[in-house]
Amino acid sequence: MSLAQGAPLLSRLVSSSVAIASQAGHVIREIMKKGDLGIVEKESVRDLQTEADRAAQRCIISSLNKCFPKITIIGEEGEDETKVTSGSIFDPSTTSLVDVACPPHLSSMAEEEVVVWVDPLDGTAEYTQGLLDHVTVLIGIASGGKAIGGVIHQPYYNYQNPGSELGRTIWGIVGGEVGGMKILPPPEGKLIVTTTRSHSSSTVNDAISAVSPDEVLRVGGAGHKVMLLLEGKAHLYVFASPGCKKWDTCAPQAILEAAGGILTDIQGNAIPYDASAPHRNSTGVLASAAGQKHGVYLEQIPQHVKDNLKA
Ligand code: AMP
Ligand code: MG
Ligand code: MG
Repeated sequence: MSLAQGAPLLSRLVSSSVAIASQAGHVIREIMKKGDLGIVEKESVRDLQTEADRAAQRCIISSLNKCFPKITIIGEEGEDETKVTSGSIFDPSTTSLVDVACPPHLSSMAEEEVVVWVDPLDGTAEYTQGLLDHVTVLIGIASGGKAIGGVIHQPYYNYQNPGSELGRTIWGIVGGEVGGMKILPPPEGKLIVTTTRSHSSSTVNDAISAVSPDEVLRVGGAGHKVMLLLEGKAHLYVFASPGCKKWDTCAPQAILEAAGGILTDIQGNAIPYDASAPHRNSTGVLASAAGQKHGVYLEQIPQHVKDNLKA
């Protein structure tokens, strides 16, 4: 199907990103099948990069660049993996594109106003450990410093159900719709918190204890944790640490907000997504499913935790 050239930029950007994220998921699965992950350490042993992270970023950035040459794209894996190489370009118009409605107030946006934050493979530690359902591909769309649209692709969705279709892609526009899944509310009468499994610290744990959860789900990936909020499997995502970056939160935040949830830093401030914003979310992340009392949980986070996470 060809792109409807008359459709608003945001509609075309989200529907193309759905197709491109799904292609990146294919790249990620192929590399795992071949078995040579090409693991390198980035800033530390807790910060890994594999050939799948690199190849998925090349696919996403070169494909988006080809379709939307004037947008700004910031990818986790840096400049080396941003070059438009013909071998990695995927043409989304060769697939059946989803129809994405654009809210009227976002319908006249120009390419020059758009910043796209790309995490080509979120949950790398878990990918290398075979926890494949923690892996997501994240494409977050921002304008005016705000997350306005996002795509989360789960390349291994259904991988433990042979016979079912492998992988799925979720998208959302703030003030618009969520597509690709059914949003479910978390259970009433209890509090389920999700948090990191591979980047814990005493500050992370102090913040969790302070909200008195009935259950804590320690899983990988910012994308996967926000999926748990959307699927009604957790009420709150608490991460009182400076480790998460803008490419981890932009797409999940846009989809969560489109579904009625909230994502802020641990002090309750909005996370800025303009191109000059620091990559690191140095003041942590607190996200809540639709209908949860975000402000009440913010108040319960201890002051020493908030003070520990200065911008
Ligand atoms: P996690 O919840 O630990 O899976 O982390 C969510 C995202 O933030 C992943 O992309 C991690 O790579 C990143 N992240 C969190 N903490 C750190 C850290 N201490 N060092 C590097 N990356 C981190
Ligand atoms: Mg990530
Ligand atoms: Mg990543």
